[in-house]
Amino acid sequence: MKPKVYVARPIPAEVEAYLREHAEVRKWEHERPITRDQLKEEIGDAEGLLIAGTPITEELLASAPCLKVVSNITVGYNNLQIDAFQARGVLATHTPFVLDDTVADLAFTLILAASRRVVELDHWVRDGKWQKGQEAELFGVDVHHATLGIIGLGRIGERIARRAIFGFDMKVLYHNRNRKPQVEFELGVTYASMEELLKTSDIVLLMLPLTEETRGLIGAREFDMMKRTAVFVNVARGPIVDEAALVEALQQRKIYAAGLDVFEREPIDPNHPLLQCTNVVTLPHIGSATAATRMKMAERAAYNLIHALQGSKEIDLIPELKS
Ligand code: NAP
Repeated sequence: MKPKVYVARPIPAEVEAYLREHAEVRKWEHERPITRDQLKEEIGDAEGLLIAGTPITEELLASAPCLKVVSNITVGYNNLQIDAFQARGVLATHTPFVLDDTVADLAFTLILAASRRVVELDHWVRDGKWQKGQEAELFGVDVHHATLGIIGLGRIGERIARRAIFGFDMKVLYHNRNRKPQVEFELGVTYASMEELLKTSDIVLLMLPLTEETRGLIGAREFDMMKRTAVFVNVARGPIVDEAALVEALQQRKIYAAGLDVFEREPIDPNHPLLQCTNVVTLPHIGSATAATRMKMAERAAYNLIHALQGSKEIDLIPELKS
């Protein structure tokens, strides 16, 4: 008998067809996202669950006694209450690697756009403010040969570092909890303490996971340490940053500019003071959002779900559940 699987978000038809070959599939049919209560009702007899960032808590797991695997179509898995998975012996998978270059491209888009004021000056042109003799008003800061400080040099961080070193002749500093001697050797990145990285980088970029340890990691103290010419970029997760402190840093020009793909609350309130700042570039959490990469992520998540249900170990289990 095929295992019962619930798909809680839209997936490509090819991926659904693959799931149906191996499982009895029910899915959320609506455009609007499924609510927590609706999800609870739907997964009562499910053995597998496919989601993308939906919070899965102890309460939800308790309502799904047959559940063996939750497959997340994202690489970040801060939406999962890990201790509940551990306690109940439910597996959880994610989609590392397949999105690394796409997210790295987006990180560089934000680095360049914030440094060269692309969005602000695009509006300038459209609003008819462009006149001769304004040169200095249009200046930005250089990206090439600048120092990029990456906090969280993992899979994606390394792809960003490659672009920086080989494409833009930049110096790259990084800060992790653990040094990566092999990557230092291969790419020429340099390990730095958090303080040293914040004080000396021209661009500070976050590419680490949201955990209890990293929540609120970057606040007023950290923005005070950055150069006044620094560009701050966050492609990781919003709650790693104290947004009120970021607004203050931008308004008071403690830093030069920011590029943000992620926010404390998503979607961000259109009246949020961050959106009044001209020196910030904002995107709606699109790090991995290309058709090709989202397809690969959905395929990988479906593969993980089916193979985990079949007892295979060749799956992208989240690290905390590896024995
Ligand atoms: P990864 O390979 O696990 O890399 C994360 C890096 O962060 C690791 O090198 C890790 O090194 C470091 N790190 C973890 N905790 C840290 C801490 N407390 N202090 C300093 N460094 C720390 O993950 P990835 O695939 O590169 O993805 C990183 C994150 O990006 C994901 O978790 C996700 O939240 C986010 N993301 C966002 C988007 C988007 O659409 N905007 C897309 C993909 C991913 P150590 O363990 O040595 O500390």
